[in-house]
Amino acid sequence: MLTAGLVTSRAFPKTLAATGGEKSGVQPVLEEFSYGDVKLASELHNQQLEQTHSVLIGLSEDSLLKPFRQMGGQPAPGEELGGWYKYDPDYDWHTFDAGFAPAASFGQWVSALARYYAITGDRETRDKILRLNRLYAETISADFYDKNRFPTYCYDKLVCGLIDSHQLAGDPDAYRILEHTTNTAEPHMPGKAIEHDHAWRPDKDESWTWDESYTISENLFLAYQRGAGERYRKLGVQYLDDEYYGPLAEGRSDFAGRHAYSHVNSLCSAMQAYLTLGDAKYLRVARNGFDFLAAQSFATGGWGPDELLRAPDSDDVNASLTNSHSSFETPCGSYAHFKLTRYLLRVTRESRYGDSMERVMYNTILGAKPLESDGRTFYYADCNFKGRKVYSNHRWPCCSGTMPQVAADYGISSYFRNARGVYVNLYIPSSVQWTQDGPRISLTQKSTYPFDSLVQFEMTASKPSKFALNFRIPAWAEGASISVNGKRAPDAAIPGSFAKVQRKWKTGDRVELELPLTKRLEPIDPRHPKTVALLCGPLVLFAIADATPVVTAPQLLAAKKVGKQDWQVETAAGPLKMLPFTAISDEQYSTYLVVT
Ligand SMILES: [Zn+2]
Repeated sequence: MLTAGLVTSRAFPKTLAATGGEKSGVQPVLEEFSYGDVKLASELHNQQLEQTHSVLIGLSEDSLLKPFRQMGGQPAPGEELGGWYKYDPDYDWHTFDAGFAPAASFGQWVSALARYYAITGDRETRDKILRLNRLYAETISADFYDKNRFPTYCYDKLVCGLIDSHQLAGDPDAYRILEHTTNTAEPHMPGKAIEHDHAWRPDKDESWTWDESYTISENLFLAYQRGAGERYRKLGVQYLDDEYYGPLAEGRSDFAGRHAYSHVNSLCSAMQAYLTLGDAKYLRVARNGFDFLAAQSFATGGWGPDELLRAPDSDDVNASLTNSHSSFETPCGSYAHFKLTRYLLRVTRESRYGDSMERVMYNTILGAKPLESDGRTFYYADCNFKGRKVYSNHRWPCCSGTMPQVAADYGISSYFRNARGVYVNLYIPSSVQWTQDGPRISLTQKSTYPFDSLVQFEMTASKPSKFALNFRIPAWAEGASISVNGKRAPDAAIPGSFAKVQRKWKTGDRVELELPLTKRLEPIDPRHPKTVALLCGPLVLFAIADATPVVTAPQLLAAKKVGKQDWQVETAAGPLKMLPFTAISDEQYSTYLVVT
């Protein structure tokens, strides 16, 4: 196993991401907007943000602190949250629920609150973040890590919460608390990336081998980049999982049998290694990893049935349509998928990463059942022939931590920028504001996409200003077109690329983007060409039926839109209702149909 030392010799400036590596001849990296620069006006997206936030802001601080205090031997008043979050010294992992990962999601919830504050400026939220961080700081103890099955997993999330508190909520003590956390945690962590099921603590049962040290470098590199200190760059290097990355860098898949979410998340660590250290090997790891992942994904964009990655050309994903309902770990998987595709898009400017992000958004996470204040959490999206949306049996599982984080990230995933202009990635009703060489620019986006093909943009500029707008033209959007102030821009919109419109923009300028919502069938894999999903633009249309429908490919492709968000397929046995994931509630559905 390779650890520290391998990639330390390349001295790149820590601001590689910001400077875009222009001095090294590498294509400049697109920058993210700040959370507050983008305002979403989509009911569905805002509902998810507000709904998850209302759960987090309502959680009792004593309850949140309780496992930390109990494990550190301090008085621990207040109710238990229960579920995975609870601390039980007699926990038996065979029960697999209450007490599985005490306090694990605390850091993610603080992170989500910080993102929410950065979006809204809500003072109550910032006050809660500052209180929670200080109360947490009083509990930091070696015992917390010593008694913990997942010391590195918990540490990683605490790092995330504290660096977001610093960056997004302006907590002046966040890095002091981070240092204290790191000093306390480090002696209890393995010191390098250790894969699942490898024992590194003697005399413990197998549940003590499930820690996820191989996925933590991303947040450590982010801590370094955000000024927490050189220590975090070194730790980031130390925990890179080079045993996993080696084959991927060379274009070989080593996916089979690996835990899906955490190893896709680990590709985000590879991207941060690339951005921080400048070593192109790590970009190859993430690009190749993404390609292997895409090849074994469902039409929804989801992946990893039963939480496992598969060998290339495996029949497992097809088999899962019958033998599993645990098709895609939706909140965690989407959170990782959004981050990975955001990194790859920013570095490569390839629109396919945005296409992929969009698919995951509409066909999985945006249709998740809401997080409930008693810890009920939507965990798996179900791609079974007899699928249903259900809550997990477990309360406050991992996905209760990532759901509010991904809900906060829709805005920063929608637009990117560089010195020459702005990239529009997601077509969500919204507005974005920025300064372009002096003038203040505001771009407003309106549509009922993806239920209608027309997306409209309107510009406000404090002074006329020359720059480029780049619009993602999805690979499926054959016949796409762009008009500026009613005049069609010829040959601009090529499916599978960003279409660039450069001009001197002024207030009142309008852009109309026409993205024909082409219907097509996608087979589950090349060996099962008759097992297909029907897509319309970025949407998978799910068949709503209790019995297996008998249908032909031409019948599916002739699906008619019969309402705002519903379609109908005429079959020999009568009409078959088709719905997007966001419009399904508790009815049985099928992602795939076997066409006759
Ligand atoms: Zn999860």
